[in-house]
Amino acid sequence: MKKWVYLFKEVAAAEKYAGSWEGVRALLGGKGAGLFDMTRAGVPVPPGFTVTTEACNEFRKTGKFPAGMWDQALAAMKTVEKQTGKKFGDPKNPLLVSCRSGAKFSMPGMMNTILNIGLNDRVVEGMIKLTNNPRFVWDLYRRLIEMFGTTVFNLDDEVFEHPMADYKVEKGYKVDTEMTAEDWKSLVSTFKAVFKNHVGSDFPQDVYKQLELATKAVFESWNGKRAIAYRKKEGISDDLGTAVNIVTMVFGNMGDDSGTGVAFTRNPSTGEKKMMGEYLLNAQGEDVVAGIRNAEPIENLVQKMPKAYKQFMDITGKLEKHYKDMQDVEFTIERGKLWMLQTRNGKRTAKSAVKIAVDMANDGLITKEQAVLRVTPDNVDSLLHPQFDEEAMTNAEKNGTFFAKGVNASPGAAVGQVYFDADMAEKMAKESKQDTIMVRPFTKPDDVHGMIASQGVLTSEGGATSHAAVVARQFGIPCVVGASAIKIDLERRHMTVGESVVKEGDWISVDGTTGRVFIGKIPTTAPSLEQQTELLTLLTWADEISARKNMREAPAKGYPTRGLQVWANADYPKDARRARSYGAVGIGLCRTEHMFFEPERLPIVQDMILSETSEGRTAALNKLLPYQRKDFDGLFEAMDGYPVIIRLIDPPLHEFMPDEEKLLEEVITMRVKGESDGLGEKENLLTAIKGMHESNPMMGMRGVRLSIYMPEIVEMQVRAIFEAAADCTLRGIVVKPEVMIPLTGTVKELEWIQPRLERIAAAVMSEKKVKFEYKFGTMIEIPRAAVTAGEVAERAQFFSFGTNDLTQMTYGYSRDDAERNFLITYQEQGILETNPFQSLDRGGVGKLMDWAITEGRKTRPNLEVGICGEHGGDPSSIEWCHLIGNNYVSCSPFRVPIARLAAAHAALKHRPQKTTSVAKSKANGRASKATAKTAKTSIKRK
Ligand code: PEP
Ligand code: MG
Repeated sequence: MKKWVYLFKEVAAAEKYAGSWEGVRALLGGKGAGLFDMTRAGVPVPPGFTVTTEACNEFRKTGKFPAGMWDQALAAMKTVEKQTGKKFGDPKNPLLVSCRSGAKFSMPGMMNTILNIGLNDRVVEGMIKLTNNPRFVWDLYRRLIEMFGTTVFNLDDEVFEHPMADYKVEKGYKVDTEMTAEDWKSLVSTFKAVFKNHVGSDFPQDVYKQLELATKAVFESWNGKRAIAYRKKEGISDDLGTAVNIVTMVFGNMGDDSGTGVAFTRNPSTGEKKMMGEYLLNAQGEDVVAGIRNAEPIENLVQKMPKAYKQFMDITGKLEKHYKDMQDVEFTIERGKLWMLQTRNGKRTAKSAVKIAVDMANDGLITKEQAVLRVTPDNVDSLLHPQFDEEAMTNAEKNGTFFAKGVNASPGAAVGQVYFDADMAEKMAKESKQDTIMVRPFTKPDDVHGMIASQGVLTSEGGATSHAAVVARQFGIPCVVGASAIKIDLERRHMTVGESVVKEGDWISVDGTTGRVFIGKIPTTAPSLEQQTELLTLLTWADEISARKNMREAPAKGYPTRGLQVWANADYPKDARRARSYGAVGIGLCRTEHMFFEPERLPIVQDMILSETSEGRTAALNKLLPYQRKDFDGLFEAMDGYPVIIRLIDPPLHEFMPDEEKLLEEVITMRVKGESDGLGEKENLLTAIKGMHESNPMMGMRGVRLSIYMPEIVEMQVRAIFEAAADCTLRGIVVKPEVMIPLTGTVKELEWIQPRLERIAAAVMSEKKVKFEYKFGTMIEIPRAAVTAGEVAERAQFFSFGTNDLTQMTYGYSRDDAERNFLITYQEQGILETNPFQSLDRGGVGKLMDWAITEGRKTRPNLEVGICGEHGGDPSSIEWCHLIGNNYVSCSPFRVPIARLAAAHAALKHRPQKTTSVAKSKANGRASKATAKTAKTSIKRK
């Protein structure tokens, strides 16, 4: 008979069946696995058992519990009765249990949990006698009926909350603590009537029926709307299913020597190495998590219950060491005795993820490699996202647009229009493309879609562990909670602080970093990397990992033995300086044509284009030369000691000319009005532009073709590059210029142009009497160049993959047209998995690159290979570049830190298994190549 149910103490059996701890987590869910592990470690966990995810998946297929499951659950209940000395359904000594969902990956608040199962009319009477606390017992009972109605029978919260609110108004009560035993008892009658009215039958008095219905409800909640939405957003598979944990109830609401709370072993917002949590005395768990009552900070517990506090700190310290990660724990103290109800790796912000990883590595708890792997490229991305400008915030405070302050629950700057419910926030964000801020008194799991769609979240109630705070942190949404000065009027759709009113649709700025909220829009700035010390440390470790000898032991001829370097695409010295400050160790692409568009240069460029003779062109180009020399001088200076790849002119010349249609309109208007002054010149210009017309300019006279047709431009550019490099060398700057020829399709093009340019380089060096390293190479943007790379490498000393054009030409898509028209449909229909212009198409474009590198290095073993298309900053594309043996990736300066981390991740993910590769390479020189192939295929399959 298959085992569907495991007692918490049966951890060894679960491990044996599942084969690994990962397997146990899949079988028993993350929460279950934590409870088993804590039980094994002797941590006080209330006795209980777990029904497996396998049972859930059977149930989802058939709508029935699998054969034998329920009998096993009943037998487990008997054991729990023995362990606790209590009996389920026995009024004299009752056992109550909770029924908690828990999937492999935590999905906080997305599935059902039912507490206090085992209460009925008779048990209530018995418990009152036992506890002598009728108020407590009636309160438990009304909670059970309400939770049963809302979760098992999907009734709306309102059907219970309305009568309760009415009751409190009638009695003149403000808070629940004013309710007496008689009040709760009376409410139990009301709730039973509500239950019968909506469900059509009485609240079940059979405690085993309660347990059965609750278990089914938890299984079914796997396919609830919010659980599905959450999985989609988080990329969690729909096939995993949830486990059900049946746990002995312990009570935090048995008086002032009882309490309940949640805590993180380190600050999940900042990463500070200090316990952060909240508790409530005389309360049940959901009161804290829901954020409905404002809880006390955990450190206050030391005065209230010093013994339990010390034990709690001791246990959580051990848990953190055991799991080697920040833990998110739930606990209850029942009459002075501490019980741990949950431990799991805590969700955290990007800032906190980086700090915790670095601190733990510095403390020797984890390795530097583990620290690097714990931070995602997305984390780094969000840390470099804009923050509010400090000065602007100070000014806003002076100008009276400060609105309120709350708890800084999830950092970052959010500017948007206010909406007071999740549906509106989502609708305005999606349909009207507005930036929205969702504002609520507090949030519930049903609000998650509105939070995800919004730029930021603001609540007036709840603390740092409230639902809003936890969810916002997880998704990296800036969030301020518990801004208690704000009065939200959901009916009138506005919120106020004193005289200040913010209406629905008004703009506000929410600073999740400091907890401040402002009326209107506050400007933002890009954060500097220098101030983020932990991130700097982590990226230095990432660079060390990438620079290690981490490829094959005996590389194929010319194959690099080290991982990727990160270079940047930069046209101007200021971009180059930013790139360097972000850690770039080279410029992989300087697009020189951008400089031709500057106002004082464009007329000279146009003169050059319009002149009909080579002499005319040279005269204009001589005027441009000093400008270009200055541009390159600045770049070399900024990149002192590092390679700088300068690409020769690439776009078709008409891009530098006035717009043809506009010019035609001007000419016609002048003719109609009879204005002759300047008409002739405009007509000539129009004729010239018409003469340059091409039906498909992106595949026409551009790149190297233009250079061959009109070599004077690139001759000037090469002179400018080498004069600047020579001048810099004379000033003591170390220059490494690399001249890049764009859009090569055949080696014959290089054979035609390159020697002329090399002669200029040599001439300048001899004129200036200096020598420095330099290279001539080409972009690989045309499939033919990739296919014939072996020939191309006879001339080119380096390749740089221009994957923007290479993707266009391999697919035969024009990027602008594709993205405007059919690409979305293609993705929706599953024809394309992702946008190939954002993430490299490994199966097609990637294969061409792989081939080009292999063939290129057969000709020239030390061929330098990089990528400078937009893919150079995309983590998945970076991984591919690592696998095929690129030397570097080059991306926009802002993405350099992300690329540094992604490069290290690729190196770690594909590091050779030491023993096998060393052994193999010793035995057989070619074996290492086979290792490379396996790595490649395994990644292709994904
Ligand atoms: C490319 O094609 O990938 C490239 C870098 O060149 P551009 O985007 O300038 O055409
Ligand atoms: Mg290109």
